[in-house]
Amino acid sequence: MSTINLMSDTVTKPTPDMLQAMFAAEVGDDVFGEDPTINALEAKMAKLFGKEAALFCPSGTMTNQIAIKVHTQPLDEVICDEYSHIYQYETGGYASNSGVGINLIRGTNGKVTADQVEAVIKPVQDWLPISKLVVLENTCNKGGGSYYTLEEIRPIRELCERRGLKLHLDGARLFNALVETDEPPRAVGELFDSVSICLSKGLGAPVGSVLIGDADFIRQARRVRKVMGGGMRQAGYLAAACIYALDHHVDRLKLDNDRARRLGEVLEKLDFVESVRPVRTNIVIFDLKPPFTADSFLAKLREKGILAVPFGPQTVRFVTHLDVTEAMIERTIEVLKHI
Ligand SMILES: *Cc1c(COP(=O)(O)O)cnc(C)c1O
Repeated sequence: MSTINLMSDTVTKPTPDMLQAMFAAEVGDDVFGEDPTINALEAKMAKLFGKEAALFCPSGTMTNQIAIKVHTQPLDEVICDEYSHIYQYETGGYASNSGVGINLIRGTNGKVTADQVEAVIKPVQDWLPISKLVVLENTCNKGGGSYYTLEEIRPIRELCERRGLKLHLDGARLFNALVETDEPPRAVGELFDSVSICLSKGLGAPVGSVLIGDADFIRQARRVRKVMGGGMRQAGYLAAACIYALDHHVDRLKLDNDRARRLGEVLEKLDFVESVRPVRTNIVIFDLKPPFTADSFLAKLREKGILAVPFGPQTVRFVTHLDVTEAMIERTIEVLKHI
């Protein structure tokens, strides 16, 4: 029996058709702007989001870190929810790469409101950091895959305009939200100064994230990418996988979301589960009742060929993705019911 890997949607491997698209890619030196496949991916993403330009990067950490650096100056601060990837999982890069502080909001499942943002914007004083950038995450990983609708983002956009703040979207899993809301990427692009999208998560590309914004922003972003060591040469082989993912793997994200929801429904009924965070997309986060700990529970799952990650001493995360089949979901449900 093959292993069922629910650790993350980053574990997907290229499909045979994706590999063919990669082998067939035309490539060039992208530091000179001469890789036609990367240029095509960047143009495709800019158009999709209604923006002027885009930049291909090796990771979503890099796209986020570049956005923070271009939007801020040292001694500024970034406002975000306490669950944000940029705060939790990017090794404190905002501080070392950009010399900025962070101003955390305790939101709801990783989501913040305009009122919460407005309450923490600092007045301008010589002795205070300057509130410069707001970062939203959609979907929110640590929030259990929660998502914002456009209606919820619009007041935050208006606030940022009124107070002179920039707004960046960490959209690592944005398409998992858009298949639920049926909103077009272009409408999302309109509300943000910059958008980061990961192609290497549920969309199934092996490597790659794209940063999207206006032409001047992306010009500066290219320089920052270079100094971070992210200027790649014939990386069109990777961009080809990303184009393939956009063309073939977006709509099927709905399947991943539905499967996660089913796992959540089963977990809620099990007596060793304390609670399940509302399952909105492809992430299921749940708390276990003692004597189970995350480690002892994960060890039991591993014996049955199911892998997942701890998300706290009593907390576990499952993520569904391209390489988790219907049969694997059914087997996982059977195993859970008999633990
Ligand atoms: C995965 C992820 C990123 C980027 O991660 P990389 O592994 O650096 O590509 C950024 N934000 C969120 C919310 C993520 O889940």
